[in-house]
Amino acid sequence: VTALMWFRRDLRLTDNPALLDAVSAGDGDVLGVFVVDPLLWERSGDPRRDHLTASLTALSEAMGGRLVIRHGDPAQVIPELADEIGAASVHISADYAPYGQRRDQEVEAALKCPLVATGSPYAIAPGRIQNQQGRPYQVFTPYFRAWLEHGWRKPVDAPTDVNWLEAKSDHLPKIDDTAGENAAREHWQTWLDDVAQYDDERDRPDLDSTSRMSIPLKWGEIHPRTMLFDLSHKRSQGAEAYRRELAWREFCADLLARHPHAAWKPLRPEFDRMAYDEPGDQLEAWQQGRTGFPIVDAGMRQLKDSGFMHNRVRMVVASFLVKDLHVHWKYGARWFMQTLRDGDLASNSLNWQWVAGCGADASPYFRIFNPITQGLKFDPQGEYVRRWIPELRDLPGKQAHEPWKHGGADGYPAPIVDHAEARLEALRRYEAIRA
Ligand code: FAD
Repeated sequence: VTALMWFRRDLRLTDNPALLDAVSAGDGDVLGVFVVDPLLWERSGDPRRDHLTASLTALSEAMGGRLVIRHGDPAQVIPELADEIGAASVHISADYAPYGQRRDQEVEAALKCPLVATGSPYAIAPGRIQNQQGRPYQVFTPYFRAWLEHGWRKPVDAPTDVNWLEAKSDHLPKIDDTAGENAAREHWQTWLDDVAQYDDERDRPDLDSTSRMSIPLKWGEIHPRTMLFDLSHKRSQGAEAYRRELAWREFCADLLARHPHAAWKPLRPEFDRMAYDEPGDQLEAWQQGRTGFPIVDAGMRQLKDSGFMHNRVRMVVASFLVKDLHVHWKYGARWFMQTLRDGDLASNSLNWQWVAGCGADASPYFRIFNPITQGLKFDPQGEYVRRWIPELRDLPGKQAHEPWKHGGADGYPAPIVDHAEARLEALRRYEAIRA
């Protein structure tokens, strides 16, 4: 017998229960495949594609060069390949996003052998955490409490007895990027030494001290279970705070699995009536980091230039788009999905909804970030904004957050809106949907 291991968002050999099942089903004879699905490929921007390509190269190396790459619709490619090798079963780790669920149903229907799902990209699979009445939680804090009590499996080792089978494979382009499970684990272990400081420093974009694990987590180069296991040996507020952030990732996935429409539509139905402006020049200014608000522009330029943005700044730029420019959050979410290296539908859409005030457990709509005070508070010496906005380099210290007060900065735009007025307008529109 042989088994087919279909890799998707689980690009690792260590701590991969689906792979262990494949090895046991195939008695060691396994063919590993990744299908480049044009639908998903076209929706990702270059940063995400590059990381994926580099990660697949690393995975293939770990398999002695035997990872098979095929392009096409998985509902055709997987059944064909399973037939080609006479697979007794196809193994996956479950996908809970709306497209992934639909795709897997189609593949299952077209297969002549069973599609076996083991595990998921989460410590606790979406839908598992319920309250005493058997209902899901709508709010994060009780979800988090239940999540902590739920317990998760221990990490498992990589299989040692695999005979990776060969088949015709498409070519992978060479990408100059560090990716893959060894790089992810090394990065995590090094970062973990400083986890105690996470609680104090995580909101400071100038210190840039968060873990950047969102990228390996996106592709399953490491599983959160491995990270939680390592964290269980650390006793500090930093480790506690980090566990909580991992739970946010799982809460977002849980919400999206239960409400697939939340990918692009508001969870709170009254927000269907919210008045937004048509996106135009202001959206373009936001995307290009030319709004005249330094913390917003630094974040948007960090995103455009590096494919990453600090979490605090993501919240500030998102609030600015929705509540200062009055543009629908879906346009911002789409831009993020094209430009972020860690772009992930569940984390992205549910965080956008949180900021826009229309999510399940949203920040109240009337709490509107002031982009200037946010900058002064979380980048107190202006180092972050000067790092990403060369036009502000001659403005020392916190002056960089209010260039208009200090004679301006050559080539840097004046603010495109008056924040106080924009805030009142946002509140008026909110009152209108509450009425
Ligand atoms: P750390 O601070 O080191 O956090 C550790 C891990 O916890 C992260 O890697 C991530 O997996 C998880 N995490 C932390 N904060 C959150 C959060 N608010 N929601 C869900 N998970 C979280 N994260 C993505 O992975 N992909 C996205 O597309 C994405 N889009 C976002 C859009 C907006 C508008 C906002 C406000 C946040 C978004 N986030 C997204 C969440 C968060 O900003 C990133 O996970 C984080 O900045 C990644 O950096 P890090 O790994 O250094 O984070």
